[in-house]
Parts: sequence; C-alpha cells; structure tokens
Amino acid sequence: PVAARSPAASGACGTRSGGSLLICYLSRFSGDAAVGYRLRLSLFIGLIVVPAGGLTLLSLRAVLDEQRSALADVRLRLPAVQAAFQSQLQAALDVALDAGPRGATGYGPEVEFVFALNELGEFADPVVLRPSLPDRSPAFAGALQRGERFELLADDVNAATLAYGEALELAATDAETVEALNALQRARVAMGDTAGSLRVHERLRQRYAQTLDPDGAHPLTESHLRQARWRLPPANVSPTVPDSSGIVAGFVGITEWVAGVLGGDIPLHPGTALAVREFRSTVRRYRWNRDVAALQADLDHIETRADFILAYDRLLETAVAGPEGTYLSGLDAGRRPWFAVLQAQSAGLIRGVVFNLEALAEATLRTPVGAQLRTAGFGLALFDADFTAEFERRYARAVRVVAPVDSRNYRLNVGLYSRDEPFVFSHYRNRNALVIVGIAGLAGTIGLGAYVLARETAREKQTADLQAEFVSNVSHELRTPLTSIRMCAETLLLKRYHTDEQRQQYLQTVMRESQRLSRMVGNILDFSRMESGRKTWDFVDTDVAGIVHATLREFEPMLEDQGFTVEIAIDDDVPMIKADPEALATAVANLLSNAIRYSPDRKQLKVCLYATGPQIALDIADRGVGIPEGEFTIIFEKYRRASNAADVATGTGLGLALVAGIAKSHGGAVGALPRDGGGSLFRLTLPTRS
Ligand code: ADP
Repeated sequence: PVAARSPAASGACGTRSGGSLLICYLSRFSGDAAVGYRLRLSLFIGLIVVPAGGLTLLSLRAVLDEQRSALADVRLRLPAVQAAFQSQLQAALDVALDAGPRGATGYGPEVEFVFALNELGEFADPVVLRPSLPDRSPAFAGALQRGERFELLADDVNAATLAYGEALELAATDAETVEALNALQRARVAMGDTAGSLRVHERLRQRYAQTLDPDGAHPLTESHLRQARWRLPPANVSPTVPDSSGIVAGFVGITEWVAGVLGGDIPLHPGTALAVREFRSTVRRYRWNRDVAALQADLDHIETRADFILAYDRLLETAVAGPEGTYLSGLDAGRRPWFAVLQAQSAGLIRGVVFNLEALAEATLRTPVGAQLRTAGFGLALFDADFTAEFERRYARAVRVVAPVDSRNYRLNVGLYSRDEPFVFSHYRNRNALVIVGIAGLAGTIGLGAYVLARETAREKQTADLQAEFVSNVSHELRTPLTSIRMCAETLLLKRYHTDEQRQQYLQTVMRESQRLSRMVGNILDFSRMESGRKTWDFVDTDVAGIVHATLREFEPMLEDQGFTVEIAIDDDVPMIKADPEALATAVANLLSNAIRYSPDRKQLKVCLYATGPQIALDIADRGVGIPEGEFTIIFEKYRRASNAADVATGTGLGLALVAGIAKSHGGAVGALPRDGGGSLFRLTLPTRS
C-alpha cells in the first residue's frame, strides 16, 4: 500500500533516525487504515447490502402475489390436514369395526355401513341373495300361468286364486313356493281379503324370508310393498288426517321391512334398490307422520348399501384385505365418489366399512387443523382419483391443491380449495402488508446499520488521518524548540556572544524553549493518560485567581518579548473551589499559549476571571486570526485544528482537547466565541461547588 501513504509519511520514512522510524511505523498504520476502510466498505456492500437487497426484492415479489401466497400456505397445511384426516378416519373405523355390521345406529355420520365378507370373499353380513334363476317344473308353471291368465286377462280373481292354490300344491322348491305365495297374496289383495293376505305375509316372513323366486324377485319384499300400498288412504282423504287404521298399517308395513333389512333378517338382493325407490314414493304420502324423516333416512341408508353391494361386490371379492387395512375408492353409477376400507379380522373374516366422504371431510374440518383451514377461507373435499378432473373443473377459479390422502392409496385424494377468493385474498393481502412492513423494517435496519458502519469507518479513517498528521506535527513541534535550544547551547558553549545582555537572551531562549518543550510533552502525556483512563485527579481547595496570576507570570517574558499588551481583570470575590491545581494550570497555560500563538498581528490579550452565579469563569480573549465559522466546536476534538491554523502556527491539535477534558472532569466546560472587531474569546467555566 505504498500509494496510500501520505507524502509526509513517505518523507519521514526516508530518514533513518529513531523518531523517524516511529513516525514511519505510525504512518504506515494510518495508510493501512485507509485500505482497510475501503476493504471493509466493499465487503459490507458485497456481503450484506447486495444479498439483503436481493432477498428483499425476492420476498417482496413473492408476497405481492396473493394467489401464490395462498397456494404456498395451503400447501404447507396439507400434511397436517392429511394427518387430521387419518386420525378422524381411524377413529371412525375403530367405532365401526367395534360396532360391527349390526350397529347401524352406533356409527357416526362418517360411516355409511359396515359389512363382513366370508373367506370366499362373499357378503356374509348383510346377507346378499343372488338369483339362481332355476327352471320351474312344467306342472307348476302350467298352474301359475293359468292363474295369471284368469287374474290379468279374464279379470277373474276367484279362479285365479284357485289356480294359484294349485300351483302352491305343485311347488317342488322353495323358489316355486314363494312365487305361488306371492301370486296368491296378490289375488287376495285384489279380492279385498285382508286376513288372507296377512296370513300369506306371515308365512313368507317366518319361513321364506331368505328365498328368491325363480325370477330373482323377493316375495317378502313384494308383500311388504303391497301391504304399504294396499293400506293407502283413499284419494279424497287428506293425508294429513291419520284417522284410518289402514294408513297406520301401511306405514307399519314399510317400517317393518326397513327394520328387517337393517337388522339383517331380510337379505339384500338385486331388487332391493328398486324396492327402496318404490317404498320412498309411497312414504311421501305419510308426510303427517313424525317418523317419516327417520324412515326416509333409513331408506337412504338401505339404498346406499344395496347400490354399493350390488355394484361393488366383484371389486370386494378381488380386493386383498391386509390387517392394516386396504383402501378402496371409485365413482358410483351417479359419478359420486365412494370410499371403503377392508380390514382382515380373525379366521378369514374380512370386515369392510363404507364411509361417507362428505361426513369424513366435515369431521376433518372440525379438528383444530380443519378449523384453522376454515378460518383461512378454505374448504376440504375427499374423492377418488377419477373425480379429480371434476374437482378441478368445479374449483377452476379457486386457489386449490390436490394430493393423495395417504401413501397406502393414491386413489383417494384430498382437495383443498378456497371457498371465497376475495376473503382469502384480503387475508393474504393483510398478512402480506405485515410482511412487507417487516421487510421494510429489516431493510431500514440494514440501511441504518450500513450508514452507521460507514460513518463509523469514515470517522475511524479520519482519526487515522488526523493521527498521521498529528505524528508529523509532533515531530515538527518537538524539533523546533530542540533546534533552538541546541543552537543557543552551542553559541553559549563556543562563547559566540558579545555582550552579557546577549548571553542573557540566549539563556532566556533556552529557558523559554525548554518550558515550551516540557509543556508540549506534558500535554501529550496528560492527554494520553486521559484517553486511556489512567489520569488521576488530585482535588483540593484551589485558588483559581492565584493559578491565573502564576501562569501569566510564567508567560510574562514571552508576552513582553513579542510585544503583547495584556489587560487583566481578576475579581477579588472569586471563591476557592475544589480542583486539581496542576490540571487547571495546564488548562490556563494552553489557552494563554494559543492566544499568543494565534495572534500574529494585533497582539492584545484580555484575561478576566470572575464569579457568575454558581460558577467562576475565565475569559481569555485575543485579537488574533479568530476561528472560521462552523469550526467553533470541532477545535476541541483531539488532533483537530481549524482550517486557518496551519498558516499561523504549528501545533498538534491536542491542547484544546486536553482543556476540554480537564473542564469536564471538574464538572465545567470550555467554549470559544468570536469577538466583535476580530479575534476570539475562550471561556472556561468551573462550578464553585463540585
Ligand atoms: P494546536 O496545537 O493546533 O494549537 P489546540 O488544540 O490547542 O491545538 O487548538 C486547536 C485549534 O484551535 C488550533 O489549531 C487553532 O486552529 C484553533 N485555536 C485555538 N486557539 C485559538 C485562538 N486563540 N485563536 C484562533 N484559533 C485558535
């Protein structure tokens, strides 16, 4: 870093004396400081400001996009939602498996129903009858057809009843028996034979509940349906008036069937779904009954079972059920998603639970995680992978995310979607506003830090520069009195003087210059002690006026020599104060010496000491060069010299810093003021009580 060295430093390094080496070293230090400053500044900008600025821009860009923030946020929530779903599913599964297929009322709304499969993969519970469609015996078929002809074509119910009775006699299988009974009951109903019809119903119920006829119909179900219809109120009776026992009986006909199916006494068969639809249209006529809602719910329930079992039994048969459960899902005939879990139980038994996906979604939304999701304006849907396109279409404009709900089954998806975009976006706008404020704050802090650091570094550099200047100033300051002392000493030694007066003058110069030297060295030592905190003060009762007199006496020869006129006004009533007399003397001497040194032309001093309120003040005024505007305070800083100083006198910039330090340690102050008519006034104030 040679280029960074100041010219003074380079000059100093050119000589080889001990002092110069020290100066050389110090200057090099100050040169390095300049490099360090630039290095630190570029490091700071490179390592902190640039990345911080980049990050700020990036984060601002990210947070300004509400849609993207919402999406990112909802993606972050996904794992928690999946976990919440799993726990809800597991809880519902446990309840359902505990309750078993018969606990229809014990499940929560999340469970549609529970079933069991046997080791062959067939429905064991509820029992599902599959039509075997056996051939009828010719004799039985003949009798049945005859009866049907009488009943339907000839409208002769009596003849039909006889023929159906004959068919019943001829029936060789249960299927034929129930077919004949069914026909017989139909005829009895047509004849208005209530008792006979009910007898047939009882027979079907008690003996043939598990039997399908050769066409695959379930006569007991038909009988229930007939019973319900047959007891219908006449068209002119308002259905809101339950005054006929027939109406009640019709209703009971349905409730009994429903109870039979749900209780497993009446098996499911291919006609169950159709039967449910017919029962449902009949139930509408019983709107007056307060149990209708429950009945309709039960019918829905049965329909779900029937649909599911008939549509999916093949799938269930092929599904492998492990002990940890197998997920099955798909779309039903109405393209509604369904979902079931199969779980192997003991001894080849497999239990299955069909879930209501909407209810499961709702249960998940009721968990704390779900509640947070709801408050953020999001909804949740569960569906089979085949439904994903539909979900995407339905929520095309929403913020949405779809993911498999579990690693065990990639078909069942959970979809999160914003229910109300303006609300969601305003939420993120608000949140983003906060984030932006945070980022701005951060950027501001970094900026402030950068400013403070840059200022600090600049100040350090300035101090380093000042120090370098100080070093060169000191060397000069030391050399000047030393040179004159040496010259005088030489002159005296070689007796080169002519008169005693001359000799006296040389001796006085030696005296003055050594005083100046010792004051300078004293200043430097005092100052360095003060800076390092090693300076000790010796506070005693001090007569400030005495100190001022003594210092003036000390300066008298110099003042006289240089032709100064000095006006002195020291009040008599200036009190004694607690002070360090030596330090005070140093302060006064520095102020006096400055006044002398900076008065090159008009050599007029005025020294006043007076008490003012709780303080005493010492004014030392001169008619010298004065202090340039705006530099009245900086001259009290270490190493600082006014901009006009160099032209007038050499100096180190330490004197006033020392005076300020002394004043401060005494609880006082020192300041400089311009004077009307030129020159400056330095005022040192000290408290009388400290
Ligand atoms: P220096 O060794 O330079 O005199 P000081 O700390 O004593 O250091 O003074 C700091 C600066 O204040 C001086 O360099 C000078 O510019 C200015 N100064 C001090 N006293 C006076 C004065 N009486 N008149 C004009 N300027 C002064």
